[in-house]
Amino acid sequence: MEKANPVADNRLFKDIYICRNCKAKIRISNQKLIREGKVKCRRCGSTALRPKHKELRKLKA
Ligand SMILES: [Zn+2]
Repeated sequence: MEKANPVADNRLFKDIYICRNCKAKIRISNQKLIREGKVKCRRCGSTALRPKHKELRKLKA
């Protein structure tokens, strides 16, 4: 647990996005849909999502 494992990191956070509006976690495997902004939060319907990975980096710094 002391050292971050890049492989595990990838598996855990790669397809996870967070709704900027209600902070709901959304798992999306289709990167194309993300880039085109076609993914909607299933809780509030917002398309404002951010990758989960960014949050991780912020916490570490
Ligand atoms: Zn939402």
